[in-house]
Amino acid sequence: MSLQDFRNYEQLAVQFNPGINVLIGENAQGKTNLLEAIHLLALTRSHRTNKDKELVNWQAKVAQVKGVVVKATGKLPLEIQVGQGGKRVKVNHLPQSRLSAYIGNLNVVLFAPEDLALVKGAPVIRRQFMNVEFGQMSSRYLYNLSHFNDALYQRNQYLKQLRQRQASDRLLLEVLSDQLATFGSEVAAIRYQLVKQLEKWAQPVHEEISQQKEQLQLQYVSQLTINEESTVADLKEQLQARLREKVDKEIAAGTTLAGPQRDDLHFLVNGNNVQQFGSQGQQRTTALAVKLAEIDLMQEQTGEYPLLLLDDVLSELDNDRQTHLLTAIQDKVQTFLTTTSLSGVARQLIKTPTIYTIQAGH
Ligand code: ATP
Ligand code: MG
Repeated sequence: MSLQDFRNYEQLAVQFNPGINVLIGENAQGKTNLLEAIHLLALTRSHRTNKDKELVNWQAKVAQVKGVVVKATGKLPLEIQVGQGGKRVKVNHLPQSRLSAYIGNLNVVLFAPEDLALVKGAPVIRRQFMNVEFGQMSSRYLYNLSHFNDALYQRNQYLKQLRQRQASDRLLLEVLSDQLATFGSEVAAIRYQLVKQLEKWAQPVHEEISQQKEQLQLQYVSQLTINEESTVADLKEQLQARLREKVDKEIAAGTTLAGPQRDDLHFLVNGNNVQQFGSQGQQRTTALAVKLAEIDLMQEQTGEYPLLLLDDVLSELDNDRQTHLLTAIQDKVQTFLTTTSLSGVARQLIKTPTIYTIQAGH
């Protein structure tokens, strides 16, 4: 991978180990920045800011990240530039006009202390989680999600116009509702299926880490009635019916009140919602099990393992959980792990690590 004017790195070229890469250094040296660069290269966005400008070195106008992905099928060069002139991406040196055509070439799973928010935080965090993770493993999901977001935006704009009496055409609203339901039903259907798959992988991991044989369940929570037998056509009809029911309220509110933009994902341990009833430790274990499950789900869905980015995670886990995590990833996924010091269990378990000392962007 090479960086140019990315955060505190003016210039960096680095060759990584196919196993565990330990990025070690004092605070504020650029460890998380390096993970962020990998995340950007994979997903075209940072995991900690929506403002691309922040990624550009203070002395420069554009930031560039290049990398060569070594896949089972051969080497694939990827490139992203952000800053002045906007976001530009290249695959195999060829510029891509749609980001959705770019995403999916390199998959990552990131685990950072903030991930506890996945369990504890607001529903929007879990929707974002589903969008980012499922978008990497299903191009059908990414396609429908991006059209759904466009349809939602247009419909909300039109509802505002209706509210302010700048428009009155109910027929146009029906067209917009139809579009929303077409893409929204696909989004909900894929989420339901992939949440089921994720649960399948998360359950055994959770059972092992919790050591108390606690049972984890994942539930996709939707306004629509969804089960194994639901078809996309059936969900579309349900969503259309909801939109028709709520139309007066929606015009009064100037926003869409039904659809997958309001759904959630619940984590249950022994039948109780961990968000409300879980201890700190149970919440941590749940977040870790779900993240580890994602690795296997991605492999199952795409045929390749993702990269694993672990930011400051070891210090958050007790010895048992550290041991579990490190044995689970050993020899399986290429891992990038940041830490201020490597001690105890981790020092013993990381057999052939490549340790990179990060000091002020070098
Ligand atoms: P910690 O152990 O505290 O998490 P870290 O090594 O992960 O530290 P980073 O977050 O990677 O630290 O890097 C932070 C450093 O990068 C800070 O010194 C910050 O001032 C610098 N920095 C952040 N954005 C930019 C930028 N756009 N241009 C130059 N430097 C930047
Ligand atoms: Mg950091």
